[in-house]
Amino acid sequence: MGAGPAGGSLARRLALAGVSVTLVERLVSLDHAAFSSAAIPLADVSRMNLPAEVIAARWNAWQLLGPSRQWRHWSSRSGSLGFVLDFGLLRQWLAEQVRRLGGDVLLGVTALRTHQQSDASMCTSLRTRSGELIEISSEWVVDATGQSRALMGETDHPSDPMVAGVGLEWLLKVGEAQWQLWAGRLSFLFGSELVPQGYGWVFPMQPGHLKVGVCRLCDSRQSQPSLISLQRRLLGISGLEQAEVLDRHGGLIRSCISRSDRHVRGRLIALGDAISTANLLGGEGIRHAMASAEVVADLLLEQLGTTTAVLSDGLETHYRKAMNRRLGWRWSLSGRLGRRTWLGLNSAHADRRLERWLTLLEKSSAEELSALLFDYRFERFGLKALPYLLGLRG
Ligand SMILES: Cc1cc2nc3c(=O)[nH]c(=O)nc-3n(C[C@H](O)[C@H](O)[C@H](O)COP(=O)(O)OP(=O)(O)OC[C@H]3O[C@@H](n4cnc5c(N)ncnc54)[C@H](O)[C@@H]3O)c2cc1C
Repeated sequence: MGAGPAGGSLARRLALAGVSVTLVERLVSLDHAAFSSAAIPLADVSRMNLPAEVIAARWNAWQLLGPSRQWRHWSSRSGSLGFVLDFGLLRQWLAEQVRRLGGDVLLGVTALRTHQQSDASMCTSLRTRSGELIEISSEWVVDATGQSRALMGETDHPSDPMVAGVGLEWLLKVGEAQWQLWAGRLSFLFGSELVPQGYGWVFPMQPGHLKVGVCRLCDSRQSQPSLISLQRRLLGISGLEQAEVLDRHGGLIRSCISRSDRHVRGRLIALGDAISTANLLGGEGIRHAMASAEVVADLLLEQLGTTTAVLSDGLETHYRKAMNRRLGWRWSLSGRLGRRTWLGLNSAHADRRLERWLTLLEKSSAEELSALLFDYRFERFGLKALPYLLGLRG
């Protein structure tokens, strides 16, 4: 259930292995609501085996605007550092692969609930766009509905509360001269006056197109400015306020830092954002969602065909261990760091701290910056830096 990167790639993997799969998605068309900015590092594109058609742009440089309104630049001398994917095309490509491999893809169909029918089968209730209710039986059901966790539901762990961020992004059409200013690089804009408790970005897409967005963590302890006001501020500072807006989209990103979400319940198994694989430091989760699909594909291929009741707790432990190995200790450290950094970025003191960090980063190469932001390699900056990174010292 859910044809995002997690559901789409799991369905594709299973179909490739000859399993009969049905991919169910509530969107009528997979190019609607392409909410994700979809920046990913080079190594992951090769690892995921993605075709050129889902790539919108390459980047080989970083450009960061600090709270003091000074831009800093890092360029790789050895070529591309990563890609910006076309999120809509990525979802379409995955679904098309499932179809070609003999699977079914049901669009415009919402999963409502699922229950165990017998030891060996599940029954899932679905609603079509026209309001018709249908039920399907299957050996397994997968909740790949992202942060909404539509089937698995919320897990309430007071010691590991859900941390949510909300983002909005516009796809802009710009002239060649303006596009060149942002092409080939990922640009991020920081500062409590610009985007309190979050950050803004400008990413290149196909020639003449840019994605511009803002994202901030939700903080119920204080009133926060509207995303649209932040977006207008960002467009002003980037000189893009006159650009034609081709599409507006946005979404929520929600994770428990220790990933205490329930992963398995009987023959229902969750993955991707539904088990908190989205990382809050860089607001990214496509590659982690796809990594969870690899793990779940292996688990399901071992389990398929068994007719006895599933021992959820044993499978859950096995799955968690595999995910922990896959994501590594740095993943949760970076989540903690993201929560601390973005929630705390709402004062002149926090701005000064961030500015000091940006100054420190000036000595790094573009590759080192990528290793920090995508591979969470904090130790390159010395273990002494960790308490500062985690905000334990100011
Ligand atoms: C503004 C924003 C910018 C982002 N930028 C980046 C980025 O640059 N790089 C990056 O890696 N990540 C980014 N992310 C995060 C990334 O998009 C997610 O981590 C990723 O999409 C998670 O994949 P998923 O398949 O688990 O969930 P999703 O992509 O959310 O897919 C879930 C699917 O399930 C469908 N669905 C939901 N409920 C039902 C239901 N009841 N029945 C049927 N279908 C249902 C949804 O329509 C959706 O298609 C961003 C997120 C946001 C919000």
